[in-house]
Amino acid sequence: MFARLKPLFAASAFVLIAPILQAAEVNVYSYRQPELVRPLFDAFTKDTGITVNVAFLNKGLVEKLVAEGKRSPADVVLTVDIARLAAVVEAGVTQPVESTTLSANIPAIFRDPGNQWFGLTSRARVVFASKDRVAAGEVTSYEDLANPKWKGRICIRSGTHAYNLALFSGVIAHLGEDGAKAWLEGVRDNLARKPQGNDRGQVKAVWAGECDIALGNTYYMGAMLDNPEQKQWADAVDIIFPVFEGSGTHVNLSGMAMTKAAPNRDNALKLMEYLSSPEAQSIYGEANFEYPVLESAAISERVASWGEFTPDDVNLMDLASHRSTALRLVEEVHFDN
Ligand code: FE
Repeated sequence: MFARLKPLFAASAFVLIAPILQAAEVNVYSYRQPELVRPLFDAFTKDTGITVNVAFLNKGLVEKLVAEGKRSPADVVLTVDIARLAAVVEAGVTQPVESTTLSANIPAIFRDPGNQWFGLTSRARVVFASKDRVAAGEVTSYEDLANPKWKGRICIRSGTHAYNLALFSGVIAHLGEDGAKAWLEGVRDNLARKPQGNDRGQVKAVWAGECDIALGNTYYMGAMLDNPEQKQWADAVDIIFPVFEGSGTHVNLSGMAMTKAAPNRDNALKLMEYLSSPEAQSIYGEANFEYPVLESAAISERVASWGEFTPDDVNLMDLASHRSTALRLVEEVHFDN
């Protein structure tokens, strides 16, 4: 059929089609690292022919969207942490997305009731406990970390880091502001050293004998096992899923939102729906040893080997709303000093 086209006709057809091909793209602003999201975008492009252009940012994503306003080229935002997702929405640079696919794939607890943001993967903030120096059952709850029996035994990164502020927001939700302040003072008094470094650095400190328990996100266990230098750190600890007494383990998420400007709205919707699909959910979960939000999605064998846990039942938006109080308390109790 195509062979019968005369060269002239083929040329004019090309002229007509070219602008349409050019428009088959979607633009993403991402706080997530290239190695985590590239495999997803490549699979999406292969399925749909839609090119994904990504700007990888370390900071200033909200400010950039605000400054660009209606002329922003961005269609979709990818980020981690519920407070950051809430901040994008609060800045007024997103739009609600009504999609039966997204509502069906993403459990209600992992998406905004107003459809402004959608969770994609989750992670738990857990205890990494020395295999040698912490007995089975010695730590079971977050509340317990303030118990003086842990004096000089806990390592944690800065209290002002987003991961800790989200956890401390959970403490506020469960214990109230006064209870959370007392808890922070208790944990502070139990620290083996001044908060410093990243999550993996805390596990290294347990391995080195500086402390007996460390707080960190689950996926770092997966990442350390793949790193020749860090594997011995991971091998020195057990993962323990602490709970808030009467509830479950603190979880946070990575997620997405559609920008208000979204010049390629239809393609953006296709990308968002794709990211919630079983295929994308397992690719995403595998890439960073996270938990897919889609319950039927395949989960990494390594992640499954850590065991099951019950997530804390506090609403994620409540966590986001306590963030500023959490930061104030961290400063009030001089957590990092
Ligand atoms: Fe991280």
